[in-house]
Amino acid sequence: MSASKLPPSIPTLTAKPYKVSLKRGLIQSKNAFGMTNSLTRQVTLDKSLLESESILWATFWHEVFHVFLFESGLDNLLKGPIKESLCDAFGTYMTKAMEEGSIKLDRVE
Ligand SMILES: [Zn+2]
Repeated sequence: MSASKLPPSIPTLTAKPYKVSLKRGLIQSKNAFGMTNSLTRQVTLDKSLLESESILWATFWHEVFHVFLFESGLDNLLKGPIKESLCDAFGTYMTKAMEEGSIKLDRVE
């Protein structure tokens, strides 16, 4: 597991991929480790998470699930706290699976 393997984008079935970027000060300005903007198709993670790999990956997978919820249309059907719980559960599960080596990411150049 390495932060350098953070994918540069998150693919979608129907439209443009979401770009993934790191930004300083997101925690301070937005009170969030990560943000997903479905309008601009941007996933932004706080740059300070590079110091804590498991939180970085949990946040990345949390945001991937936000992309999934939006792209599937489920985003409109679920209340905020339910969405956040689903995203947290997915993020935690995927991070644990990566830590245990059952999921590996490889960058295709
Ligand atoms: Zn969230």
